[in-house]
Amino acid sequence: MKKIIIATKNKGKVKEFRAFFAPHNIEVVSLLDLEEDIPDIEETGESFVENAAIKAEQIANRFQQPALADDSGLIIDSLEGRPGIYSARYAGEPTDDQSNIDKILGEMKEVPNDARDARFICVLAISRPGEETMFVTGYCEGHIQTEQSGQNGFGYDPIFVPEGYEKTMAELDPAEKNQISHRNMAMHQLENKIHLL
Ligand code: IMP
Repeated sequence: MKKIIIATKNKGKVKEFRAFFAPHNIEVVSLLDLEEDIPDIEETGESFVENAAIKAEQIANRFQQPALADDSGLIIDSLEGRPGIYSARYAGEPTDDQSNIDKILGEMKEVPNDARDARFICVLAISRPGEETMFVTGYCEGHIQTEQSGQNGFGYDPIFVPEGYEKTMAELDPAEKNQISHRNMAMHQLENKIHLL
């Protein structure tokens, strides 16, 4: 059976990837399943692609096995693309979802309703020893609400209204969010490349 290491310690992500690869007969191993503790890999890249590549390549080289890593974030047009690759730590470290939301809402106070477009992005990098790294990208388009609402999800979900909806991602049912999420869109793109693994 083919095997892929998912370069994350996030249980939710591991579960999603396991469900995705199972029908393709590919076994998923995560950093949580390995005997040794792998220290967190620093995201020193200047783009989502670079950050995903750094993580996937480091794990693939270390274990000489195919590895997949993701990098995701929020891109807001009126803020020239911010928070972008700094989404997790936009209001500084230690990372805090509420501080990040407060900072965005403050910066967008004067932005009119028709100029609040934004999108979530998810880049997946797949590195195979001795081969070029492959990438797929998924998006979820929407806009930033003027106030936060909803309790589900994480990160910027309470201020992000997906296109075609009138509620935030944090007000959507988790299954509904998963269907339209940037991560799910990226996984759809990956279907076309699975035969290369
Ligand atoms: P990471 O790629 O898991 O490190 O995510 C980077 C950051 O982007 C997270 O800490 C969140 O702030 C934001 N983010 C990524 N995906 C989502 C999402 O589905 N909902 C809300 N925020 C997200």
